[in-house]
Amino acid sequence: MQAVAGPGGIGVLDLQGGVQEHLDHLRRVGVSARPVKRTAELDGLVGLIIPGGESTCLSRLLTIFGLDVAIRQAYDHGLKLWGTCAGAILLARENIGETPFFGLIDIVVSRNAFGSQLDSFNREALAPAVAREPIPLTFIRAPKIVRTGEGVRVLLRLDDYIAAAEDDRILVTVFHPELTPSLAFHRYFARKCGLSVAGGDDAGLDPDWTPQSWMDFSYHV
Ligand code: GLN
Repeated sequence: MQAVAGPGGIGVLDLQGGVQEHLDHLRRVGVSARPVKRTAELDGLVGLIIPGGESTCLSRLLTIFGLDVAIRQAYDHGLKLWGTCAGAILLARENIGETPFFGLIDIVVSRNAFGSQLDSFNREALAPAVAREPIPLTFIRAPKIVRTGEGVRVLLRLDDYIAAAEDDRILVTVFHPELTPSLAFHRYFARKCGLSVAGGDDAGLDPDWTPQSWMDFSYHV
């Protein structure tokens, strides 16, 4: 895929969790991408991904390194945010039974709503606003989005929960597109950040993508 000029790059919060896989996917869609460990590394970015991992751990590290305040300030100045899984929990306005962290998008999440780590799963679904073909989805001890407020669009509803949603400045997914061959959500976020990316509205399956051995949790079933 072709790289593209844009007003700035997209960062991936690099404190804990699935960082490298997001960076690799951003590069596959031709976006300049960098890890963000320190507040100064937010400078010049148009978007930031808060990856999946463990939301309590991430919240502590964000506070220790002053990144909570810096990200909020950058958001106030136009930085777009995408939270995957634990990242979505941190961005939610309400987290059932717990204190919200950033509280920036009007959604209610229920943490670990599918059960334990062993209840992780893969499936496929169509998110028409993102791609016209079904895309593979990987859920790892995911939360459920159980409600959305005004100004939040549902991008993917499955069974009794919402799996992807957005408002004008924030995207949230409870699954992990970076752990699948599909580039569709990374393209979608890059476009939301005002970057022009190559590729159409197909599922964006990268033929060169290979799963890591630890991504194969079929042996748990
Ligand atoms: N269960 C984790 C949490 O509550 C999220 C898991 C993930 O990010 N894949 O933070």
